[in-house]
Amino acid sequence: MLMSAADYRDSLRRFKPRVFVNGERIDSVADAPQLSPGINAIGVSYDFALKSEHLPLMTARQRTSGKTVNRMLHINDTSTDLLYKLEAVRLMCRESGCAQRYLAHDALNAIFQATTRIDANHGTDYHARFLNYLHRVQEEDLTLGIAMTDAKGDRSRKPGAQDNPDVYVHIKERRKDGIVIRGTKAIVTSAPYVHEFLVMPCRTMTPDDKDFAVCCAVPVDAEGVTIAARPAGRPGESAAKFSARYGQSTGVVMFDDVFVPWDNVFLASECEEGGYLTTSYATHHRHSCIGARAGFGDLLIGTGALMIEANGLDTDRHAHVRDAMVELIKIVEGFFACGVAASVYGIKDESATMMPDAVFSNIGKLLLATQIYDMHRLAHYVSGGLIVALPGPDEDHNPETAASLSAVLAGRPDIPSSQRMEVARLMEDLTASHQGSWYSLISLHGGGSPEAMKREIWRNYPVGEKRELVEQLLDRGVLADGQRVSKQPGRCCVTGCEVPELPGAKEAAE
Ligand SMILES: Cc1cc2nc3c(=O)[nH]c(=O)nc-3n(C[C@H](O)[C@H](O)[C@H](O)COP(=O)(O)OP(=O)(O)OC[C@H]3O[C@@H](n4cnc5c(N)ncnc54)[C@H](O)[C@@H]3O)c2cc1C
Repeated sequence: MLMSAADYRDSLRRFKPRVFVNGERIDSVADAPQLSPGINAIGVSYDFALKSEHLPLMTARQRTSGKTVNRMLHINDTSTDLLYKLEAVRLMCRESGCAQRYLAHDALNAIFQATTRIDANHGTDYHARFLNYLHRVQEEDLTLGIAMTDAKGDRSRKPGAQDNPDVYVHIKERRKDGIVIRGTKAIVTSAPYVHEFLVMPCRTMTPDDKDFAVCCAVPVDAEGVTIAARPAGRPGESAAKFSARYGQSTGVVMFDDVFVPWDNVFLASECEEGGYLTTSYATHHRHSCIGARAGFGDLLIGTGALMIEANGLDTDRHAHVRDAMVELIKIVEGFFACGVAASVYGIKDESATMMPDAVFSNIGKLLLATQIYDMHRLAHYVSGGLIVALPGPDEDHNPETAASLSAVLAGRPDIPSSQRMEVARLMEDLTASHQGSWYSLISLHGGGSPEAMKREIWRNYPVGEKRELVEQLLDRGVLADGQRVSKQPGRCCVTGCEVPELPGAKEAAE
């Protein structure tokens, strides 16, 4: 059954996770002001799925159960599903900055694919277990935290070669009724306010490291789980126009000998398929990241346009600010177009799941990862320095300064200074506060650092096909043929010996 945002917040009261935020123990996650902006942001994914105008984007029919589920928990059947998911993520993130719940979509799709493959290769029954789990998650409309990125320790060493094995989550013990896992996942979005975690491997493993190849579901309050988290957004800060309301907490999640029954285990040491799970998740997730950052781009474009107006400038007359806005639009719609292309060129795998195209997904994510800094620069360029120089909101009520400040800090005469200050504070919040930097970091490293995308582009791009194409052209002599008929200077033949006549050269020679 689909929940509302209020139902979701209330449902968190059923759980008693061991959560610390900046050293303080949190008794009730649902009521903690430090986490409220994160719960609000995830709430958008619930409320939007109940709005009639958003139903096609925000809900879908699950093929394996025939039931209508939240799009963020759906397994993709068609390229339209991919496109709708992309659009749905953009829609939610333009409202909330980052709606976080799309990570669950990405993981569920990847596990659906990987468990099909493990069963085919090893005769196991992981897929049936996973289907039971999937249907329960969809039925209860849960929020899942994706615990993939391990603490990793010394990056130059593999998991089994670390001094402290707990820097990677691993299987410590195998029992008849399940496994015991131990270790640390270092960066888990929304960790304190999810219902369950999906633990997944963050890299490909060799047989030497088979105990580190593990994927399973763990309730947020399972015995042995501890979460050390940051506040979500900028709760309680009066200058935080946006992120006092919407934000994201990330948590370090420590698994201290946590028992997981076999029903919740979806991969246990099948290394080859573990690698497939990791890369498949990465492709789904990078595709989703494109939608998420396009939503953030919408916020920057809108705030930039309002700031220009409040400053008294006109994009029709002042071409350099218009150019900056066009540059911003080009970046946002440019990487979003890669997401559209990845959807259109999606491929069905052996589990009948529709995968976004890997090359376009990775190119889109790579573009946004690096161009996020240009997006901030352009937003700053059109805004001016006021966004970081404006006195705090308490000054607005200081009887000794309020009147004169509001008189001199106005821009365009028909726009009140309070409105200009409000937009300036919003721009600061989105681009120049610690939350603004957060958007840079999640764009750069969230979903994998740029090098990971470059590797995937190189691994998936059909360079061989292009090489063959040119070899065939050379073998057929097409290039030489082309040169024979060409009248281009210096390209009359293979050696370019027929030098064209210069105007007036004949006369000069005579
Ligand atoms: C806001 C935010 C939210 C996130 N949410 C989640 C989440 O919900 N779930 C989740 O699982 N993860 C999450 N991540 C983690 C994200 O996937 C990682 O940040 C990313 O994979 C990079 O890993 P890292 O941060 O450990 O950086 P590192 O791996 O330390 O990388 C730092 C740099 O070192 C390079 N490097 C690393 N290892 C090597 C090596 N062996 N050889 C050469 N160079 C190397 C990298 O290319 C990079 O340039 C989130 C990240 C952010 C910033």
